[in-house]
Parts: sequence; structure tokens; C-alpha cells
Amino acid sequence: MSEKKTSFTLQIKKELAGQSTAEACCLQSECAGMLLFARRFEAEGMEFCSESEAAAQRLLSLLRRCFGIKTEEKTVNAGRHVLHTVGLQGGESQSVYTALGYEPGQVSLRVLMSLFQCERCAASFLRGAFLACGAAAEPEKGSRVEFVTRRSGLARDLMYLLESETGMAARLSTRAGKQVVYIKNGQQAEELLALMGAGVSSMELMGGKILRGVRNEANRIYNCDSANTKKVVGAATRHREAILSIKKTKGLAWLTPELRELAVLRLENPELSLTQLGQLTDPPMTKSGVAHRLARLVEIADSVKGL
Ligand SMILES: [Zn+2]
Repeated sequence: MSEKKTSFTLQIKKELAGQSTAEACCLQSECAGMLLFARRFEAEGMEFCSESEAAAQRLLSLLRRCFGIKTEEKTVNAGRHVLHTVGLQGGESQSVYTALGYEPGQVSLRVLMSLFQCERCAASFLRGAFLACGAAAEPEKGSRVEFVTRRSGLARDLMYLLESETGMAARLSTRAGKQVVYIKNGQQAEELLALMGAGVSSMELMGGKILRGVRNEANRIYNCDSANTKKVVGAATRHREAILSIKKTKGLAWLTPELRELAVLRLENPELSLTQLGQLTDPPMTKSGVAHRLARLVEIADSVKGL
């Protein structure tokens, strides 16, 4: 998956940003998730940056509700896409940093367990983290939800949180010097989206998985069918050539009545299978009976050619 955000990612973020959260502890946990996984999180300054306008607006609302901070979003044109940024400096940045439980000058940034006060705080934190650094593959491409951060301590803590809160075994890889925590298991990816509050997107992911299954099955049946069709057409062509060669050299009247009947039917009905041809003879014949007589016609044609 490239760094460019998929439209499904933006859709999930919009859905998450529309969640209504009432508890003060959960609001703070979500805000912490958004800021910790933002582009910059230091006592001296913070910067959140996202292609999702809904995510940036969500952060503005959380900062106002949790810390009484009123600030604005800035829009930056970055090549082909627009980035929405929210920045905090000076006193504001310092007060948020300490309010979330961090001490100025902290070198290794970790997820503080003191953030989690009620049983829904962890889900709120994960929602915030996804809004800041999450991405998901388009549902028709596969099930993959990931979090990308430059800080290895945060990546490890996130994996621990996913494991302890949801029992999900997330994996870790690196991409362009960044840590990528990801979930590839379809069911777990759906559960994670639902847990964070993106129920509709979770259903879409499930729908994509079913659609992929249906498409694979349809392809399998189609390939199988066309292989059979080729076999039938190939055999019919061989029989037809044999019968035509007899007709040209000896004439069909030269054949026994049984063989002549089938030879005529085969010439007149090139599209029919052996079973279907057998239903046209009088009396009707089995598929193997038809195959036997056609093989006999091919033998006769070969011997006539050899004369
Ligand atoms: Zn809570």
C-alpha cells in the first residue's frame, strides 16, 4: 500500500470523526492518540497533519472540549493533494503535554497507561491513533488496516495495546524508515474498525471480502467451462473433418445405416455435445455409444485416405 491515502481510508476517518463521545476520559484518550501519532508531539510544539479534513476538524473539537484551546486548521497544497494541519505552540503546547501526563524533555515517547480510565478509553485512543496515522486498503483489494509512525516505542506500545485490548496479534514492518503496525487478518481488520467506531466501513470491508470470494469462484467456473468448451469444439472439428472426407471420397451412402445416421447428425449439429447427439439418434444412444461410433468414423476416414 502506498503512502497516498486510499479513498477508503478517508471514508473511515470521516466515519470515526463523526462519533459522539461523552466521557471526559475517553475524549482525552482520543485526543492523546491523535497527538501522539501526529507529525510532531513535543512540549515545545505539536503539529497534526492529515489529508482528512474531518480528522483535523475532530482534533480542533477535542482540543476545545478537553483543554479549552481554540485554534484553527490550516490548509496546505502539497502537490496533488491538500493537507489539513493543526498546530500548537508555546504555552498551549506545554499545557497539553503535561495534562496528558508527559514531562518536558522526555526522550522516548510511550503510551501512558494512566490515560485509560474507563473500559472504552482504549478504543477511543485507537480511534485517535488511526485518525492521525492510520490507513486501510480498498475493500476490493484486501483486508489491511495499518498505523504508521516514526517512533518505535509508540509502535511497540500500540501492538501491546491491540493485543491486550482486543487479542489481535498485529504485525510490525518498516517502510521508508517508519514503523508500520498492521493487521491483515480479514476478520480482525473488520473488528478493529468496528471497535474504533467505524461500523459502516467495517461492513464494507466484510462485503469486499465476500465479493472477492464470489469473483474468484466465478473465474474458476468460467475457466473450467471454457476449457470444456474448447475440448468439445476440438473433438467436434476432428469428427466433422473425418465425415467430410468420407463424404468426398466414398459418399455417405456407402456407410452402414447406423454410422450414416450419426455422420449426418454430426454434420448438421456441430454445436451439440455427444450426450445431446445421442438423444437425436433413433433409437437414442448413450454418450459412450456415440463416442464409439464417431471413433469408428474417424478410423474409416483414415483408412479411406490411406487407400
Ligand atoms: Zn473513558
